[in-house]
Amino acid sequence: MQDWIERCIRPEIRALTAYQVADASGLIKLDAMENPYTLPPEVHAAWQSQLGALDFNRYPDPGAQGLKLALRAALGLPADIDVLLGNGSDEIIQLLALACAKPDAVLLSVEPGFAMYSIIASWTQMRYIGVPLLGDDFRLDRQSLLQAIATHQPALMFLAYPNNPTGNLFDRQVIIDLIQTTPGLVVIDEAYAPFTDASFLEELGRFPNLLVMRTLSKMGLAGLRVGYLAGPRAWLQELDKVRLPYNINTLSQATATFALQRQAVFTEQARRIRFERSRLVDALNLLPGVRVYPSEANFVLMRAAEHQGPEIFAGLKKRGILIKNLDRAHPLLKDCLRLTIGSESENRQLLEALRDLIAPVNA
Ligand SMILES: *Cc1c(COP(=O)(O)O)cnc(C)c1O
Repeated sequence: MQDWIERCIRPEIRALTAYQVADASGLIKLDAMENPYTLPPEVHAAWQSQLGALDFNRYPDPGAQGLKLALRAALGLPADIDVLLGNGSDEIIQLLALACAKPDAVLLSVEPGFAMYSIIASWTQMRYIGVPLLGDDFRLDRQSLLQAIATHQPALMFLAYPNNPTGNLFDRQVIIDLIQTTPGLVVIDEAYAPFTDASFLEELGRFPNLLVMRTLSKMGLAGLRVGYLAGPRAWLQELDKVRLPYNINTLSQATATFALQRQAVFTEQARRIRFERSRLVDALNLLPGVRVYPSEANFVLMRAAEHQGPEIFAGLKKRGILIKNLDRAHPLLKDCLRLTIGSESENRQLLEALRDLIAPVNA
């Protein structure tokens, strides 16, 4: 069968490994930037009764009009800015790449960064260029980026703001310089918008080549798979042509609309997560040999003492806590671990385990 596969499947696809998700069964799950909180019981009951009234013998609303209206209202978008919905923002990255992938077109981003940009570039036969961040605190390397833009003339650029897995916000003026210099489209990926006050949403319309992408996943709706792209209508009309019809299923449309009409619940949860983040950062800073990077997201990147990262990851797992080990993910991330902010009690357990592992009482 192997000869058939080699004849039919593109070599760059054969070279990939399928996206790996760690098995978290039985573990405290602090690896995937999920919101730890569920709905208050009365809100949950109201949601269930709304779902009970849905018909699933019919296709979903192809334009997801109700959800788009709820989203527009929640964001307070101006009339000339439109939204396009995706099955997670991952699907939106794919739509953008599909639409921009002329032969030899370049997709540019920074590293360490979000893995899906380069993965989707290879699916769509785009050439991926990852410009390293500056190693001491993961700032944008303005000179190298301008050089890469001049050399590669990227059709598409993604910048996560705040960045994953580093958690920091990039310098706003440097981003604006890149937007104004590049010949291509720039997508600011604001997956972590609920956990920061910074945004490029208000810059939409100011630059002809700027779009802002967000997701409902990190605010607490990861299971629904709803992401969105905001920007001038003319861009979104083109991208809408490569969107699969009915990409947002009926249950997700109804649930996301329901949730956006109760934004206060999620705003309060995000506030608690931000508060927990600051407490966790303060506590991590007291651990010997640990460097904690400032975060504007719902996770914190920490660097353990040399050669300790993988050991701490394994020690936490043994104690029932799953985080993300980034030690092998990128040369700039040696001994780095990414900790998703959990509930009060999860964070307490995480800290207890870390104290145990990093400063053993009998040392
Ligand atoms: C989590 C994440 C996404 C993906 O979000 P989905 O909407 O769940 O597909 C996109 N970009 C960044 C930077 C992320 O961290």
